[in-house]
Amino acid sequence: MLTTKSKARTETSFADSYREVLAEAARLSQRYLDDLPHRTVGVPPEAIDRLKELGGPLPTTGEEPTSILQLLHEVGAPATVASIGGRFFGGVIGGALPVSVGAHWMADAWDQNACLYDMSPVGAYLEDVVLQWLLSLFGLPPDCGGAFVTGTQMADVTALASARTALLLRENWDVEMDGLFGAPPINVIVGEEVHATMLKALALVGLGKGRVHVVDADSQGRMNPKRIPRLQGPTIICVQAGNVNTGSFDPIAAVCDVAVEMNAWVHVDGAFGLWAATSPARRHLVEGIERADSWATDAHKCLNVPHDSGIAMVRDIDALRRAMSITAAYYPPSPCSLRQPMQIGPDSSRRARAIEIWAALRSLGSNGVAGLVERTSGHAKRLAESLKAAGFAVLNEVVFNQALISFGDDSITDRIVDAIQAEGTCWCGGTTWKGRRAMRVSVSSWATTEADIERSLDAILSVARAQGA
Ligand SMILES: *Cc1c(COP(=O)(O)O)cnc(C)c1O
Repeated sequence: MLTTKSKARTETSFADSYREVLAEAARLSQRYLDDLPHRTVGVPPEAIDRLKELGGPLPTTGEEPTSILQLLHEVGAPATVASIGGRFFGGVIGGALPVSVGAHWMADAWDQNACLYDMSPVGAYLEDVVLQWLLSLFGLPPDCGGAFVTGTQMADVTALASARTALLLRENWDVEMDGLFGAPPINVIVGEEVHATMLKALALVGLGKGRVHVVDADSQGRMNPKRIPRLQGPTIICVQAGNVNTGSFDPIAAVCDVAVEMNAWVHVDGAFGLWAATSPARRHLVEGIERADSWATDAHKCLNVPHDSGIAMVRDIDALRRAMSITAAYYPPSPCSLRQPMQIGPDSSRRARAIEIWAALRSLGSNGVAGLVERTSGHAKRLAESLKAAGFAVLNEVVFNQALISFGDDSITDRIVDAIQAEGTCWCGGTTWKGRRAMRVSVSSWATTEADIERSLDAILSVARAQGA
């Protein structure tokens, strides 16, 4: 039996084994952030070459934790893309609010398994709180169900699984028990500009990405609701709030009008665009979203929490529960008065993602969320207008945080995008829009300031001139 004294010593040594490691992690992380303004946003080739120092066979003997962290800082950190900083404009990849990084660290130290209420009351409770906050921010029905997943792709999977369950139940088919073999077919309608991850989600839930009905899109990539086919039988219509190239929004209200005629399930891929709903100035872009049946979005994009963090929201909470339910003698039954995350989402064991979302939302407040959306969209507009004034073509209507720039023909545009990435002041990606190569600018971080936009513009223009544009 442990005496009180030796027990205290054991517990101290447990805590002590973290002390130095966490202090070192905090110190090196801060050093990384301090260095950020002085490095290139992209990764230099030398940093990639050095990565092999982290490889090789697994050493037989272990190493000291702090020296491992130092090696990570020295060799790993330079091979990171500086996407947490204010001059990264690639993908649609958000930064990370300081409070959300701090909350994420604390949640790691707590090492909660958010699978069940009993395994993490705080993890499960904050999911309920955050879900209510998000539904209210987006203007969605307060009684929707929700699941906290890795990203929008998994949120799409979750929502599509719920749709599949609900639509087939109407046909007296139990898809959870009997699968899709021999089931009544489900039609799926998508826009021409559907995101690749939506197609992958359709493939994962057995609905197939090759059997979708594709609806034409307009010059901005918006689905034309007049071209939606009127189909018989169970039907899902996937709409998009926020096109990854143009930032445009499918006309959700008009799609919902058509869906009513067909009794179709409407799913909204709103990875970043759903956040337009939080801003009075942009709410019109998602008009009608509250009439859809399910919604997928990311917290790691516009809300700026660390990766990975997506949310699925489903109006028919019974369909979501049914699609996700799991039974075993050692699991609490579903439904249950307390939130049991594994009974309402695709994962079993996982981290408590709601913690840093809660911290981010609480630090911003609803005004702060709208302000963040407005600020990033304003920066994108400013960048596009300045490049236009400099004589370059802006290929989209900048309605949100995305802008597409052409510097001339395809080859010069590609050359300039490569040169901008190599120069390193900022980072923009390349894309093809309506058959034409373009530079894609996405402003998605709280960290981007006016000064970052100025500095990036100067760099882009000088690189473009040097390339002969
Ligand atoms: C980013 C994005 C996705 C995929 O989201 P992940 O978080 O990477 O899973 C889906 N749809 C759209 C429109 C996106 O912008």
